[in-house]
Amino acid sequence: MSNAISDFLKGTEARVQSMIDTLVAEGIDHPELLSVMASIPRHEFVEPAFSHLAYSPTPLPIGRNQTISQPLTVARMTLWLLKYSRLGRVLEVGTGSGYQTCLLSYFFNKVHTIERQKALFDMATVRLQKMGLQNVEFHHGDGNLGWPFAIQMDAVIVTAMANKVPLALTNCLKEGGILIMPIEEEQYSSIGCWQKQGERWKRLEQTPAQFVPLLEGKVDA
Ligand code: SAH
Repeated sequence: MSNAISDFLKGTEARVQSMIDTLVAEGIDHPELLSVMASIPRHEFVEPAFSHLAYSPTPLPIGRNQTISQPLTVARMTLWLLKYSRLGRVLEVGTGSGYQTCLLSYFFNKVHTIERQKALFDMATVRLQKMGLQNVEFHHGDGNLGWPFAIQMDAVIVTAMANKVPLALTNCLKEGGILIMPIEEEQYSSIGCWQKQGERWKRLEQTPAQFVPLLEGKVDA
């Protein structure tokens, strides 16, 4: 191996290791989750100009004015799913770069993911198909309307923020299902994790966070 390549690989390992160290220090204590996050090439999911920062504890641009969340946020939301959800079918709203989708595909039998921006939808679809993921179904549309076919989900994860949970998303959850979504309130924005219990929702987790907004409709260009 040339020196240049071995230096690059060493650099890659160091930045991945530093991301994992940060996650562990923040309480992410799930070995399989950590090892999957260490194996996904996060630098391929961000805008090329920012790929050198891909493993840093910061959100980054992914195109179309959208951002990928920082590794800790992605890890927390995934950890909650691993802790509380059946790992059957999950619906993700906001495919974006496909990074969270990719992570979910390691743990769930089937991942359904919706993106409203055609350009991001196309990029994520190609990226994940090249990586050989077989258990992901993609949909270009408005996630407020839910999945286009009536399928009951074990979990729903929304990666964009709104001030209320769209009805179509709560309706498609099975009894006992898990909802993870960033909610914007006047004084305080946070990601919450709830369990559907009949007509009630039991809040299981909550942590402060900022996300891009959940918007209406789809963008075709
Ligand atoms: N999970 C993504 C995060 C992307 S940011 C990742 O790992 O990269 C949030 C994404 O939600 C953006 O791509 C945005 O276009 C998308 N989005 C916003 N409102 C939406 C809606 N109503 N339906 C589907 N996608 C939406």
